[in-house]
Amino acid sequence: MIDLRSDTVTQPTAGMRKAMMEAPVGDDVFGDDPTVNRLQAISAERAGKEAGLFLPTGTQSNLAGLMAHCERGDEYIVGQNAHTYKYEGGGAAVLGSIQPQPLANAADGTIPLDLVAAAIKPDDTHFAKTRLLALENTIGGKVLPASYVAEATSFAKSKGLATHLDGARIWNVIVASNASLADLCGGFDTVSMCFSKGMGAPVGSVLVGSKELIKRAARWRKTLGGGMRQAGVLAAACLYALDHHLTRLRTDHENAEKLAKGLGEIPALKITSQSTNMVFVAVPEKDCAPLATFLKERGILTLMSPNLRLVTHGDLSAEDIDAAIAAFKAFYVAK
Ligand SMILES: *Cc1c(COP(=O)(O)O)cnc(C)c1O
Repeated sequence: MIDLRSDTVTQPTAGMRKAMMEAPVGDDVFGDDPTVNRLQAISAERAGKEAGLFLPTGTQSNLAGLMAHCERGDEYIVGQNAHTYKYEGGGAAVLGSIQPQPLANAADGTIPLDLVAAAIKPDDTHFAKTRLLALENTIGGKVLPASYVAEATSFAKSKGLATHLDGARIWNVIVASNASLADLCGGFDTVSMCFSKGMGAPVGSVLVGSKELIKRAARWRKTLGGGMRQAGVLAAACLYALDHHLTRLRTDHENAEKLAKGLGEIPALKITSQSTNMVFVAVPEKDCAPLATFLKERGILTLMSPNLRLVTHGDLSAEDIDAAIAAFKAFYVAK
């Protein structure tokens, strides 16, 4: 199968499985797991933060982060397209009693700061208390401009807002921009990072921030059911990914570029964006169903839609990309 649905579909590599098998473990709810502790310490150190917390998913990591910042009746400002707002079951509101204030993302994924300024509520009993600005990098595969991140985080600070970054794919930003993790996390109070996307671990996210915020998040993690026991078998996969899979993301970006170039040669299709490991393709509505079937019969999996997102990852070779392009072309020649 050539699976272009997401970078979450990657299988753990043989080396990763071996590292998982051999990991020293303990009961992490007691803080006893040496492998979890090592992952948390290394992640925090590389991000330039005081502390880290290992969580099963990025959704839980974002939620524990938001709940560490916000009390019941607080509000967070977030992009309309942000994962924390749109793709996490409304968890901030449902489980955190935090009111989202979504704002339209610009085409580059930023939230214009004049919109942010206008959305900050005055201290008045009519309003929820605006507490936090949440950004996402990459967003829709796009790297947020570094100048925007610097401006947005210092603006938030000047208004007394805390800042959270959903850095599920921060690793792709590192590779695409040659910035360090510490550079990218610098302006934020908390950052959530996923190891289960292009990094290829089966499970795992880390939240980093100050000791105080991470202590609060750890309490919420337990409440949310994310306190795990011998979790070192999972943390070992994440440590392995840091050592062996990070620089490999460059290949995913090259494959996405190649895919966009190939599909761009098909007149019926329009590449609407290509950045890091994602390609977005405008597919004529009437082609969606037959194209999805045609591709599937040739072993190519997509989440077909008129705004099709294709994602490259470590289980795809350059030959797989060629085969995918050829299949799309064959559909349109056959038509
Ligand atoms: C995948 C993802 C998450 C977390 O998703 P989980 O499936 O819960 O690990 C958060 N934010 C973004 C931008 C993501 O892509």
